[in-house]
Amino acid sequence: MKKIKALALFSGGLDSILASRLIIDQGIDVLAIQFVTPFFNYAVLDDVQGHQDRIYRKYGIRVLVEDISEGYLRLLHNPAHGFGKNFNPCIDCKIMMFARAKEMLAEQGASFLISGEVLGQRPMSQRRDTMNLIERDSGTRSLLLRPLCAQLMNETVPELEGWVDRSKLLRMSGRGRSAQIALAREFGITDFPAPAGGCVLADPILSRRIKQLYSDDSVLQSVEITVADIRMLLLGRQFVLPGGGWLIIGRDERENNSLTALADPEDAVLLMEDWPGPVGVLKKTGNRYPDEKKLAMALAFAASLVVRYGKKLPAGSEQGEVTCTLRGARHLIPAGPLADDTFRNWAML
Ligand code: SF4
Repeated sequence: MKKIKALALFSGGLDSILASRLIIDQGIDVLAIQFVTPFFNYAVLDDVQGHQDRIYRKYGIRVLVEDISEGYLRLLHNPAHGFGKNFNPCIDCKIMMFARAKEMLAEQGASFLISGEVLGQRPMSQRRDTMNLIERDSGTRSLLLRPLCAQLMNETVPELEGWVDRSKLLRMSGRGRSAQIALAREFGITDFPAPAGGCVLADPILSRRIKQLYSDDSVLQSVEITVADIRMLLLGRQFVLPGGGWLIIGRDERENNSLTALADPEDAVLLMEDWPGPVGVLKKTGNRYPDEKKLAMALAFAASLVVRYGKKLPAGSEQGEVTCTLRGARHLIPAGPLADDTFRNWAML
């Protein structure tokens, strides 16, 4: 007889690992779906196969990685249920992920969904009323089984159909972690990620940068926000220049490489080719400055900051030579280091 298949909403955290394992242990074929956006799990895309192998080796769980960045960037403009303490739209985030997972049931030949949610664990999205609301708005009611707290919830299709034995499911609730850690030990799982890491929208500092980008006085103004914009926003030193230009300066070689790779042709990329220093990216330069004079001034500020954060210039030399590449064309901008007093107020959050 063909095995019943379930899709697990898989964050990679301990709760989703345990929920998957509990259901695998009941003879169900579980495929874990790990959603990625620039706000969480994005590094997985660097090596999907390696990630899948690692999760299978460590936890015996098969993972499918699904990039939902595009829809997620749109969602952040106006989530119907608002934001949590930071810029985290947890309720709409879950509705979106659960709804997508439900669509994937047919694509994957699966019959129901599971998640690692625990009743009362999170103030915004794991209260009983919000869990019900998320089920309703994602269309997953009765298809979504939460193995860690199932005995505290209404019965779902897999229980009613007898695919899953409800008596072997759990009744975890609240914010404590001891029950999860004890269960992990029973499964022989000792190496698992710390709770509540990972989502930059819930990070008090980084989420402020993202909120700024989505605000009415955004440094991008009416330009459409892209994945590369978000990834750049999470890197380096961030500045808003006089006139509103958005400048990012790399802090180390890794960030310099990332900035160079993420820049698009409308971004100006600045660096000193003959002297150690950072890469600077002045975002959307090509379409932001119809006025040549304003463009030249913004590039001059950007070049001076690149010199400021570079290695101290050799004795006797007052200016560095900064190469600026924009729309494939390169030109040199001689610039001295900008005085700290001048740009102290330009730092973005
Ligand atoms: S913390 Fe982040 S990933 Fe988790 S539900 Fe909230 S917005 Fe979504």
